[in-house]
Amino acid sequence: MIWNNVLKNTEYKKKYVEYVKNWEEKIHSLLVFDPDRPTPGKAEGGSALSNIPYVVKDNIAVKDFRFTCGSKILENFVSLYDAAVIEKLNTLGAVPIGKSNMDEFGMGSSTDNSALAITNNPWDLERVAGGSSGGSAAAVAAGITPFALGTDTGGSIRQPASFCGVYGLKPTYGSVSRYGAVAYASSLDVIGVLARDISMTETVFDLIKGKDEQDQTTTEYIEDKRNLQKPVFGYLVGDLGLSDSVAKAYKNCIDILKSKGYEVKEIAIPSLEYVIPAYYTISTAEASANLAKFNGIRYGYRSKGTESPLALMKKSRSEGFGEEVKLRILLGTYVLRSGFQDKYYIKAQKIRTKIINDFNNIFGNIDLVVAPAFPTAAFRHGNADLSPYQQRLADKFSAIANLAGIPALSFPAGVYDNLPVGLQFFAPHYSEKLLFNAAKIIAEEIPVPKVPGFKTIEEICEAPRG
Ligand code: GLN
Repeated sequence: MIWNNVLKNTEYKKKYVEYVKNWEEKIHSLLVFDPDRPTPGKAEGGSALSNIPYVVKDNIAVKDFRFTCGSKILENFVSLYDAAVIEKLNTLGAVPIGKSNMDEFGMGSSTDNSALAITNNPWDLERVAGGSSGGSAAAVAAGITPFALGTDTGGSIRQPASFCGVYGLKPTYGSVSRYGAVAYASSLDVIGVLARDISMTETVFDLIKGKDEQDQTTTEYIEDKRNLQKPVFGYLVGDLGLSDSVAKAYKNCIDILKSKGYEVKEIAIPSLEYVIPAYYTISTAEASANLAKFNGIRYGYRSKGTESPLALMKKSRSEGFGEEVKLRILLGTYVLRSGFQDKYYIKAQKIRTKIINDFNNIFGNIDLVVAPAFPTAAFRHGNADLSPYQQRLADKFSAIANLAGIPALSFPAGVYDNLPVGLQFFAPHYSEKLLFNAAKIIAEEIPVPKVPGFKTIEEICEAPRG
């Protein structure tokens, strides 16, 4: 595999860097690109990831790289250490060569909420790459790296993966250490993988998962080995509010599973309609606490010319945070204010319990749920296609998995009107293997799409003929 050689061979590297720069002029997926970063570890000869380049969402710490979270408040901040996942990948010899753009602090579905760059979808530069891990998804779809890391609190790995035509894994809550990742909503956040290849997705997940003393929410990974041979699938019926292309892709996927002889049952998730109020109550409440530390005192952006510490904090936060982040901090403090917790926060927690119970019931009868990842394919920059409100409502299919803590994988489900459409599988806790196997079944019929201009690493490095 040439990916292992690309950074070591001067000729290959030159061609590779040129390829990346060509794409980057168009898509702006990366906030940092540094192919000269020295290979971190002395990987034992056998590591599948030895010398393989990858990019990291900019809310995960990589030593000596900028660490902005897509925010002006951290615009010039540089990480002093590696996140636990990066340390693990270092020991395997993988090389982080860049930081990818994202919606500020993970808040959004477009990456347009980044204060630092606008990322374009490689399939159509007028459209968003999705978010909040939009830079990671765009980079992988363009063939810049064979995999990327992202984070998912309410869909931020799966939404951009589906908009760009790649795989996006949101692992079981607590299965991957978040030490070194900046928290958005701690009871929902998880680090995961984006890749064009399902085996690569699986390989990277297997290598980063597991208990870590530095993150007390991680647990020993004990695989759930249910029905791997002949899983039973469930799918949603009724009006799901999907665009034509997503509805077609959804039907086609169900038909494929049936035609291959799998049992496919109709299911309902009664709590689906309550996901958005619960998600936006819980995530903003947690965000308001998590983002309190960005106050201009200890690090990050500091406003000038203020007269008191309080004024300094107020002004630094007012100038340093973007609109979406401010809105969510305000909403979070509103739902938590004293005397009102019963009305919002506690109610949201009850919905969360209901969602967990719904999945317990569902997984009593079936093994995997097939669901849309997002109601539409990639939308255009700005609010013409989808208003900010509609963008938030669209999170229901993805945020439900975060509220339940279950693993979910979005997978390429075809190209319609020149845009990729993604769907997702949900599985019970600790059964990522089921997700990978199901994705392989679909991949036999629907190959991973190649965006026009995409080259494999072999094609990039091929000697010129003549
Ligand atoms: N679209 C979701 C939101 O805006 C994605 C959040 C995430 O997973 N970080 O909150």
